[in-house]
Amino acid sequence: MLLSLQAGGQAGKRFQEWCCVILCFSLIAHNLVHLLLLARWEHTPLVMLGVIAGALIADFLSGLVHWGADTWGSVELPIVGKAFIRPFREHHIDPTAITRHDFIETNGDNCLVTLLPLLNMAYKFRTQSPEALEHLYPWECFVFCLTIFGTFTNQIHKWSHTYFGLPRWVTLLQDWHVILPRKHHRIHHVSPHETYFCITTGWLNYPLEKIGFWRRLEDLIQGLTGEKPRADDMKWAQKIK
Ligand SMILES: [Zn+2]
Ligand SMILES: [Zn+2]
Repeated sequence: MLLSLQAGGQAGKRFQEWCCVILCFSLIAHNLVHLLLLARWEHTPLVMLGVIAGALIADFLSGLVHWGADTWGSVELPIVGKAFIRPFREHHIDPTAITRHDFIETNGDNCLVTLLPLLNMAYKFRTQSPEALEHLYPWECFVFCLTIFGTFTNQIHKWSHTYFGLPRWVTLLQDWHVILPRKHHRIHHVSPHETYFCITTGWLNYPLEKIGFWRRLEDLIQGLTGEKPRADDMKWAQKIK
């Protein structure tokens, strides 16, 4: 009975992931076509600024979410513990497990998160006047870039753990540091996993480490709540060894 319920739950999750990936990729294609149709030369400087800001903010958000799940809370917490915190903690114990996840499993959850901004953008393309869209253009490029990097964060993270069989264009993007390079991400995988949390482009890891950003934030939270960073992670890692 329990087994069949579990199997049902897994099939439901898989179905949800498929739906999110299909919807998300359709919206990305739809929005990209509209952005290309609206492109004007005079927008170039603002668009470039928007794209860089989008990539930076996506990287920061990936770091913030990753740091939160690695550092605080317990795997035993109801709902978030199992669904959200545990995968991050397990990833430290078996970093290559992620490379055995297929495309749908890797990207399903992030596609769910970025559906809303993508839908909102598609809605604007359908309803706003051409003048209003022209005015909004650099902002929409910023949102689009942020959403693209957000959608592909898990895929980029998976590639950073993949040492064989990566397509040439992926290793080039890693070598040029457009996406998280493999050697760069290895720094995070040294226990106790207290730095280099950003996993999208990794651009912010060095500057954030330099100013002690995560350490300061942890000190602040410990001062306010009395909770020790990574206390549960250390207990949990000991237990399952
Ligand atoms: Zn981690
Ligand atoms: Zn990793």
